[in-house]
Amino acid sequence: MKIKRGDTVEVVRGHEKGHRGEVLRVVPSDRRVVVQGANIRKKHQRQVQAGGRTMNPGIIQFEAPIHISNVMLICPKCDQPVRVGMLVEGDLKQRVCKGCQALIDA
Ligand SMILES: [Zn+2]
Repeated sequence: MKIKRGDTVEVVRGHEKGHRGEVLRVVPSDRRVVVQGANIRKKHQRQVQAGGRTMNPGIIQFEAPIHISNVMLICPKCDQPVRVGMLVEGDLKQRVCKGCQALIDA
């Protein structure tokens, strides 16, 4: 996975194209990421009682995962969505911007 939790990414496909946000969660098995403020879904929650706890009814908003091919990493130096390459030095793998060659995690 070239995208990690805490990265800033931009949505590059779909109706939210251009939206930028922080990666809150990565789902490697599905190759999906959860991006702050993107792909908001609403869930209608009934009042339920389970094990002495009461969940309040109402509409819950949450971010649904987006496929990784629909987002691109923002290079901290270029400040635009870029393709990411890998620079391997011995055991060390570092992510580099394919535009400006800057190290992403520097
Ligand atoms: Zn760059």
